[in-house]
Amino acid sequence: METTLNIPVYTMNEAEEKKEILRRYRALLRALKPKLKSGDKEQIRLAFEIAVEAHKSMRRKSGEPYILHPIAVAMICVEEIGLGVRSTICALLHDTVEDTDITLEAVKKDFGSEIAKIVDGLTKISNVLDTNVSQQAENFKKILLTLTDDPRVILIKLADRLHNMRTLESMKREKQLKIASETVYVYAPLAHRMGLYNIKTELEDLSMKYMEPDSYHYIAAKLDKTRKERTRYINDFIRPVKEKLIKAKLDFEIFGRPKSIHSIWNKMKKKGVSFDEVYDLFAIRILLNSKPEHEKEDCWKVYSLVTEEYNPAPERLRDWLSNPKSNGYEALHTTVMGPQGKWVEVQIRTKRMNDIAEKGLAAHWKYKEGTNDENRFDKWFQQIRDMLASQDTNSIDFLQDFKVSFLAEEIYVYTPKGDIKMLPTGSSALDFAFSIHTAVGEKCIGAKVNHKLVPIGHVLRSGDQVEIITSTKQKPKAEWLKNVVTTKARSKIKDSLKEEKRKIAEEGKIILSKKLDSLGASFNQQNQEEIAAFYKINSTLDLLYDIAIKKIDLRELKDFHVSGDRILAPKIAKPPADEKSEGSKALLKKDTELIIFGESSDKIMYTLANCCKPIPGDDVFGFVTQGEGLKIHRTNCPNAARLLANFGHRVVKTKWVKNKEISFLTGIRIIGLDDVGVINKITNLISGTLRININALTIEAKDGLFEGNVKVYVHDKDELDELVENLKSLPGIESVERFDTE
Ligand code: MN
Repeated sequence: METTLNIPVYTMNEAEEKKEILRRYRALLRALKPKLKSGDKEQIRLAFEIAVEAHKSMRRKSGEPYILHPIAVAMICVEEIGLGVRSTICALLHDTVEDTDITLEAVKKDFGSEIAKIVDGLTKISNVLDTNVSQQAENFKKILLTLTDDPRVILIKLADRLHNMRTLESMKREKQLKIASETVYVYAPLAHRMGLYNIKTELEDLSMKYMEPDSYHYIAAKLDKTRKERTRYINDFIRPVKEKLIKAKLDFEIFGRPKSIHSIWNKMKKKGVSFDEVYDLFAIRILLNSKPEHEKEDCWKVYSLVTEEYNPAPERLRDWLSNPKSNGYEALHTTVMGPQGKWVEVQIRTKRMNDIAEKGLAAHWKYKEGTNDENRFDKWFQQIRDMLASQDTNSIDFLQDFKVSFLAEEIYVYTPKGDIKMLPTGSSALDFAFSIHTAVGEKCIGAKVNHKLVPIGHVLRSGDQVEIITSTKQKPKAEWLKNVVTTKARSKIKDSLKEEKRKIAEEGKIILSKKLDSLGASFNQQNQEEIAAFYKINSTLDLLYDIAIKKIDLRELKDFHVSGDRILAPKIAKPPADEKSEGSKALLKKDTELIIFGESSDKIMYTLANCCKPIPGDDVFGFVTQGEGLKIHRTNCPNAARLLANFGHRVVKTKWVKNKEISFLTGIRIIGLDDVGVINKITNLISGTLRININALTIEAKDGLFEGNVKVYVHDKDELDELVENLKSLPGIESVERFDTE
């Protein structure tokens, strides 16, 4: 995980290529060997030959023959996901129908309808994230239907994505960004949901490598530098535990595992700490070779031996033995105080549990005979099917909603009777109420969580016992949408609000039709739309509603022209565009051209996004907004992944051009020791030595420390970096970092 991919310059000749292709094909067969039954080898050979022939004139961006990609995808399916012969055939064929002359009918003829169906599913998926938004939602629905038909589709697709991420180096920068964003936005959560922890982690790390190259390489280098020290610590930690486990005659393996770069980085961001302050850089894992009937008992035995040696933090105990996660994950996690007062996470699981943790769904099937929770995935699939069937999924929020409802980490909570309900992390008491029944949700006025009264928006935690309080007088309100995260609750609340609105709008209908009547025009759709457009209202339902609640008094209607039964709005000059929506805070004229647009050097107008405040030199992309033209975002903007993954077609490549005449407002946060004259030192450096303009400066001091927020105008990132470096070297300064100005 800490090594970077080595992309050799491509230099093979044709004979060498042929050899290499055969070599990899044979390796694939070797990996599959234990699963081969009679006749399988011939089928795989046939799929291989069809794929070789179909892709024979194609090459990957790296210069390699294309066929190496499907072989690599098949290899991931077999070795890293644990799939079998049929999936291997599908993986070999997965790009043939999409990119070559091979038809689905031909696949069906050669391999039967089961394989043809999976290949079809894989073909549909490949163009999901490319088209426009509603098309995208539509396609995504299709995938989900295919997925719930046969989960192998999604597993092979994940293998495909993993190989593409591993070989992303040779792609163009904007392509890298788009693929990496989709990966972190959709595919990594999907891998997690399917229980493929290793693949999820690798996808996240690889995405980060392209989206946040600086942070990625910084953490990777730090991990590299501290490796020796960590190994020594892990050995010290493990030694006494090992002795105890041997004494207890347990069959086990014990080792330390570094946390992923992505998860360390998340922790640094979330807690606002530096690398050195992230305490749990690794976890200790204990793998047990237990008989099925002794699994739980053995895990708890290990737990008690570990906590005999090291003190546990009781609130960090995670018992996924009694309540496995809904992706099938089982294990016992605890965090204990190790030597030198450092907290260390210890994961305890059996080999079987480990297989499920690493190979997810595929392993789950292997073991499912004889267990009583075999429908864990079936239940999830059924929920997805229900949602697709019941709900209006045409909204742009669809992907977002789906992610929250079906891909997020889960919590389990108890009903008053002790039944368990699984909900996505972040769910409120109101989400819980709707998960029980729509009628309970709609009448919910509060809840008792662990016997304490809480408001409806109270966020639940795993293990909570929740009792919903209802009132017959209650009805859903618009503010409720802010209190829920689940798709079910959201859509039920929206339905109910719409219904309510419709009722009220009836009154507006009466008022408007009277008014139109008095003007000699008729009450028809066309006239309603004309009026709605005049008041800048999105729908005629909203228009009638606004009339009913007297938000609109229709006085302006007297200025309308009436011709026949039609009514026409007077032509008025458009008011100037809202200044507030402008992101750019350039000191000089705002519309100066700064960027090169697309491949050509055409210069175009743009604004800088308010959410991340890019300055020249930042890694950026352009995003075509609706109505506000081109917006420039930083690639590490909090919104970047969502925008790139959802609206890839609206992203344009952008590049800064050096321009020393324009300055940009950006913020710097300085933390240091409170000291007389510190303000002077800082301002002298900024405006004196470096001649940078200060826009605002606030300093707060507390307990001998101060925090200063300075807003400065800089020309580009180089100048900002220089400023930060200079500030850092001032005596007494602890940290200097950029923040996005408000
Ligand atoms: Mn592919």
